Amino acid sequence: MRLLEGKKTAEAVKKEILAKVEFLKSKSIEPKLDVIIIGEDDAAMAYVGMIARSSQKYGVASEVVALPATITEAELLEKIREINGDKSVHGLIVQMPLPKGIDEKRVIETIDPLKDVDGFHPMNVGNLSIGEDGFVPCTPYGIYKMTEIEELDFTGKNVVVLGRSNIVGKPAAMLMLRKNATVTICHSKTKDLAEVTSKADVLIAAIGKKKFVKANMVGDGAIVIDVGIHSEDGKIVGDVDFEDVKDKVSMITPVPGGVGTTTIAMLMHNAVKAAHKQNGLEF
Ligand code: NAP
Repeated sequence: MRLLEGKKTAEAVKKEILAKVEFLKSKSIEPKLDVIIIGEDDAAMAYVGMIARSSQKYGVASEVVALPATITEAELLEKIREINGDKSVHGLIVQMPLPKGIDEKRVIETIDPLKDVDGFHPMNVGNLSIGEDGFVPCTPYGIYKMTEIEELDFTGKNVVVLGRSNIVGKPAAMLMLRKNATVTICHSKTKDLAEVTSKADVLIAAIGKKKFVKANMVGDGAIVIDVGIHSEDGKIVGDVDFEDVKDKVSMITPVPGGVGTTTIAMLMHNAVKAAHKQNGLEF
């Protein structure tokens, strides 16, 4: 069994991005990412803190725009429009979940698609599905990049994506189509789940349930990509029961140290790409 660690991919992306940041600097452009965070959700604040620390290492400026949990939807949309109009900011993330009463769809649709480095705006979702250039959500994009860096050819392979969320499952499925795989998407209404997943050459687990994928759900020699992040007794574990499946699979991403490691790298990639596009530069 081979471990597919995220570090190799993240380092390759970082090298590429640092060179592109240098190029931007030669044109007096400093790529900048703004992150709107509302209220004081611990997990969201930890993620935002990680973005700020990583940005520095990639030569990307970042600013956390902390807004009170009492903010109204109108005030939030106004703030987004203000950042949309700020030429010094190239990427904008609004950290989810949003407080009750604020419509997520309206928020996402208000972000300028050219600054939507999370890739959630319908224009970017559409571009991904028709194979046009745009911003791809960072977690599935990290998976895609890893398969490229690891030179994994999925042409004609049976790829099963477990989960159909807009941020992971669906975009991951689209990207696997781009790799010429035969793609199946499973969800909570899928019948005989283990029957479907165990036929996969490649199984992407993004189900949001701790250690859900057991040995009976994977085929001999399958490649398993575990997107899950959960805490258990002070440790981080995935959607896959690693110990249960490890002797059956040919390759697997560890948790931690797998897919999660590539996510921030792809966010920086998207921010630097945004800075190029907004200045009419080829990326
Ligand atoms: P999500 O929005 O909760 O989606 C989970 C998906 O799994 C849904 O499509 C759901 O089906 C399906 N599902 C749930 N229970 C099922 C069952 N018993 N059988 C079959 N399908 C089932 O989760 P997400 O946001 O995509 O995240 C997935 C995992 O990735 C989570 O563990 C999350 O923490 C992790 N994650 C990691 C990163 C990273 O940077 N590595 C980033 C984002 C998320 P329905 O659609 O039918 O409800």
